Amino acid sequence: MKLVLASNNKHKADEYRAMFKNEHFNNLSILTPNELTDMDIEVEETGSTFEENALIKAKHIFHLTKHPCFSDDSGLEVTSLAGKPGIHSARYSGTHGNDKENRQKIISELQKLHTEDWSAQFRCVICFYDGKKEYYFEGICKGKIIDEEKGAGGFGYDPIFIPEGYDITFAEMRPDEKNKISHRAIALKTFQEFLISYKE
Ligand code: IMP
Repeated sequence: MKLVLASNNKHKADEYRAMFKNEHFNNLSILTPNELTDMDIEVEETGSTFEENALIKAKHIFHLTKHPCFSDDSGLEVTSLAGKPGIHSARYSGTHGNDKENRQKIISELQKLHTEDWSAQFRCVICFYDGKKEYYFEGICKGKIIDEEKGAGGFGYDPIFIPEGYDITFAEMRPDEKNKISHRAIALKTFQEFLISYKE
């Protein structure tokens, strides 16, 4: 089976290929859109939920490649900030992808509230679309935000996020450790269980 990841991000594709390397998926190949088409894959994420954005991406790529597709959308939800930044996680501070400023903004918004509740969760939604139907798989990783950055690994909000049951941040963990408990790993595990019995 050919499965298209709705992203040309090579890092993401390599990560998914590694995670699909096991006896259940010997006959599965993960392709990126640029391996199948030279058309522009960029699509505006106009949805108001992770599910809507993931579906927009998966459907767009399905129509370009005509192969079953999956996409993911993820972000951080902070309890005291009413679930923000959520779908705006990558651009919370205003500039897309400025991780450092995004982290500083979370800390300063929480400090302004003088709240003791710094709990938060990462959420990831994977959407699989086969041209007939869409399927969603969700992963949540609960934890809390801290008021200083710790650790040099990971990306995004990792240096200020301590997962439940741990006393180190995602950025202080080894990647294989994070990949066992992360929102993405949990969503992917559910997706893989579905694929094992999925018939095209
Ligand atoms: P995307 O779904 O990969 O585009 O992620 C959206 C944004 O959510 C990223 O730019 C990060 O700011 C944040 N994010 C998602 N997953 C993680 C994670 O595992 N660690 C830290 N930040 C994350």
